[in-house]
Amino acid sequence: MALVVQPNVPEAVATFLTGYDGNFEFLTSMKARYTAGHGLSEGMVSAIQRCIVRADEQEQAKAPDPDGIDLFTLPEGKSFHAIPTREGGMHIVRVDRPKQGNWVGWVFLKQEPVHDPKNGGRQQVGGTYTGRMRGAASRISRNWLASCKRYGTTVGKCGLCNRRLSVADARTGMGKSCLKRAEDLYASNRET
Ligand SMILES: [Zn+2]
Repeated sequence: MALVVQPNVPEAVATFLTGYDGNFEFLTSMKARYTAGHGLSEGMVSAIQRCIVRADEQEQAKAPDPDGIDLFTLPEGKSFHAIPTREGGMHIVRVDRPKQGNWVGWVFLKQEPVHDPKNGGRQQVGGTYTGRMRGAASRISRNWLASCKRYGTTVGKCGLCNRRLSVADARTGMGKSCLKRAEDLYASNRET
């Protein structure tokens, strides 16, 4: 399932770099180097891996969602997300926000490829998320666009339409028309 864009760069490092939007100079220069198609030395890779561990620790230390986790800002229909684990792996999460039928207003999470309906948790109409995947749900709700693009760079498929991505689109993590739609929606969520 892994998409190896450049052979010597581990997937977690590639994903972290392409999704990096901070201003730490070392990481912005590594991101520029990587996205330009250059390789990274082993020393660079291990320095980036140390940054990933630190970023994860900072993420965990943040105050946990005092008002609950709201997933209703995500796109309607299905979307797919990748959330890095502390062990260096990746959880793949499918989110369903039904567009029609009896479940409009609800949001459902499922961990892929496990299809246990009890496993992923849900959000009722007007409520907040309840379930066993609080960590992943929290990270998705804070920045669903980033987790959706991370799915693309990790799996090589678009996180919105689930079509296979070209090599160029796999670097940004989403197909061009879906990216435009996702960025517009994400920006409008932030304004309201
Ligand atoms: Zn797409």
